[in-house]
Amino acid sequence: MTSPGSSIAVNEAAEGAAVINNHSGLHARPAVKLTKLAKRFSAAVRMRIGPHGDWVDAKSVVKVMGMRAAMGEMLYFSADGPDAANAVQALLELTRRDFDEGSPAERQFKGQVASSGFAVGVIARPVRAIAIRGGTIEPKIARSQLERAIACASRDLEGLLTASDRMASEILEFQLEFLKDTKLTEPAFEAITQGSAAAEAWTRTVDRELAGYRAADNEYFRARTSDLADLRDRVLAALNPDAAAEVEIPEGAVYLAEDLPPSRFLELDWSKYRGAALLGGSVASHVSMLARSRGVPLLVQVAPEAGELLNGAPVILDAEGGHLVAYASGSSLQSAQKRISARETKRQAADFYRTLPAIGRGGQRIRVYINVEDPEQLTRVDPAECDGIGLVRTEFLFRGVQGLPDEETQFQFYRRLVEWARGRPVTIRTLDAGGDKPIAGLTPENETNPFLGVRGVRLSLARPEVFRQQLRALARVAVLGPVRVMLPMVTVPGELEKAREMLAEEVDNLTRDGIPTRMPELGMMVEVPAAALTAAAFDADFYSIGSNDLIQYTMAASRDCSGVANLYDARNGAVLELIARVAAHGAASGRDVSLCGEMASDPTAIAPLLDAGLTALSVTPVALAQVKFAIAEHGRKTE
Ligand code: PEP
Ligand code: MG
Repeated sequence: MTSPGSSIAVNEAAEGAAVINNHSGLHARPAVKLTKLAKRFSAAVRMRIGPHGDWVDAKSVVKVMGMRAAMGEMLYFSADGPDAANAVQALLELTRRDFDEGSPAERQFKGQVASSGFAVGVIARPVRAIAIRGGTIEPKIARSQLERAIACASRDLEGLLTASDRMASEILEFQLEFLKDTKLTEPAFEAITQGSAAAEAWTRTVDRELAGYRAADNEYFRARTSDLADLRDRVLAALNPDAAAEVEIPEGAVYLAEDLPPSRFLELDWSKYRGAALLGGSVASHVSMLARSRGVPLLVQVAPEAGELLNGAPVILDAEGGHLVAYASGSSLQSAQKRISARETKRQAADFYRTLPAIGRGGQRIRVYINVEDPEQLTRVDPAECDGIGLVRTEFLFRGVQGLPDEETQFQFYRRLVEWARGRPVTIRTLDAGGDKPIAGLTPENETNPFLGVRGVRLSLARPEVFRQQLRALARVAVLGPVRVMLPMVTVPGELEKAREMLAEEVDNLTRDGIPTRMPELGMMVEVPAAALTAAAFDADFYSIGSNDLIQYTMAASRDCSGVANLYDARNGAVLELIARVAAHGAASGRDVSLCGEMASDPTAIAPLLDAGLTALSVTPVALAQVKFAIAEHGRKTE
């Protein structure tokens, strides 16, 4: 019996969870604070990390420290006893107050801008929990598990393939081919026969393959590392679908990962992410190209220490200046917000120019064409927004798994371009294989320096049977609209003369066979300093400056080597001087000169290009509005 006024000690149970937000996690000081607080209650208090972690006694500092709970992890509390609810409430509050640690200092991580943009948000790391260990070692069962997982990963990739544009599908096809290749899969099945479980056998096998790619000298091959790692993880995820569940994407997520394979990029819902930061990657990789073409801010080669940032860490993704800023100070946040609204104002101002013709200094009309490397791009642009097509990179037609395209396949594709352009000029570049764009069975293997080897028009002249088919398709399509044929990597006048002779011969052959044909204009890209310096010596109907290559050949700095990125400088006086010389020759001879390298799509490069005398540019479609805006601005400033 209890006396009146005394309270009955009722046993109660309570639970709750909170995320650790302080930078260094549940280290010594917060652990002591937490256990001291827990001891104030008579209830038994337990805690664990995540919903499936092991429970530990929240009153034991040894146990709490032993959890090694880090920032971003979810702490679960559970109490039993008369004051259980109060105990859980107090512990949750302490966790939410960051254990009274105060806010961490601002940290900056340097990176390279792969796709320009700016965002304020929180870190969201991909969670694809994949089990590498465990599983049966019974060979028959393990074998069929791996077979099913490979088939499942293939189906996922095939699904993505149907929904993807051309550039993306090339990468997906590459992955699918790898999965089909028994050279990759057999060693894994062999390891299963020797007694390994499926996940372990698969991981070991792919990792061995990966090591070779990682160590490759060539940046292009190194870039494939992420495609292979993605393949490995897809199969592992299929082996254990429960573990592969994704977490919810928080508001303002900034994707942070070691690397991001293109297939993964295509799967992510970018409307939920404000941008991405990768510790690896390279500006020239496929994923960087995808991010640029879709306007997703992306930093690559971010300082490795950023890898310590956990989910939920507040960040500024400065893909203008090349920094990831964590725990930004108030003033950094203020200036970030200012820059974001300045960007937005600029974007709106630029949008006004999208549908207008570009007018530069003194009312001069500047033509702005688009570059096409993937026919799907055309579905996203209204031809009225540009002056036509200034560059078609026909390489993708030749890279398909079906082998080289015949004359008819090429003709049908070129016809699509001409129909899209509705009377505007369409400049189609003949095959530019070689260098960083090898095509199996066509480009030479084992060249010590492929950029200086048999590439571009050199290759076409060396393989006349392939070149003539392309010339015939181009001569046929020229009947349908203003088609201009452009030769890549021309170095000496003889190359242009030879190509003109072959084109004229094919026009004659087709005409003799009664096939409608027209001799199109024949022009050249200026990508080699020798051609830029002697432009007047070429009998070209027009010129288009390929600054991507012109810069690398002028500066002796490979376009795909991050180690010499500082030398690969579009604004270097020598590069601008070569551009000015070609523009001057065009003006003096009345021939059209444009520039179709990436430089033309960079709004900050427009002023020097116009000052060098250019009156035509060819840009990536997403840059149209900004480039036209930059042209108008330059006109206003220099009037
Ligand atoms: C260039 O070199 O600037 C160019 C447009 O060609 P590509 O980038 O295809 O080599
Ligand atoms: Mg080029």
